This record gives sequence, C-alpha cells and structure tokens, in this order.
Amino acid sequence: MADETYIPAPVSCDIHRIEHGEHRIAQYDAKTRQGPWANLCPDCFAEHGIGLGTGKGQRLVVGRRPQPQRAQKESQIRAAISAGDLAMAEDLLVELGDDPDLTPYL
Ligand SMILES: [Zn+2]
Repeated sequence: MADETYIPAPVSCDIHRIEHGEHRIAQYDAKTRQGPWANLCPDCFAEHGIGLGTGKGQRLVVGRRPQPQRAQKESQIRAAISAGDLAMAEDLLVELGDDPDLTPYL
C-alpha cells in the first residue's frame, strides 16, 4: 500500500475535534500509539502517530490520484490492439482525451 491516500475533501483532526473541540485540518490517516486509527493533524501525528506505511498510516492528499502517464496509456492501447480488444483500446483513447481513432496505432 502506498503511504498516501486521496480524499475528495479535507477532514478534521479527530483528536483536536474530540478532545479540544477545535477544527484543524488532518494531514494523516494513521494508527495511534493508543491503537485506534484517526485522522491527525501534523502535531497530533507527531505526538500520537507511529509512522507511515502499511499498517501504520497514510498521508492524506486532497484531490484525485494523478492519471497514469500518457506513455503508459499508449502502450496499453497498443497492447489492447494486439490482443484484438479494439473496444478497450478505444476506451483508453477516450481516457486520454483523444478522438477515438485508432489509426495512428495501427
Ligand atoms: Zn490534532
């Protein structure tokens, strides 16, 4: 598992919200030294977190996961064509934002 996770909108630090009634933007979804997982701001992560990585925690990133690189998509298109799956190749082209015209790949 990556040590980043993508979320659609910012979330509050659970510890600040629950223990202090304060709103702080969380930057981590992490396991705490006490056991439970929580959304944590940097201060609380430093105090209560056990680190980043599988089973420990992820950095929260607001937004969408970056799209795969264009070159990778293009090689997937060529692979789909050589496998005879033209519908898949056209779908990949649409994902790239190109016209669904496979001619340049044939
Ligand atoms: Zn906090």
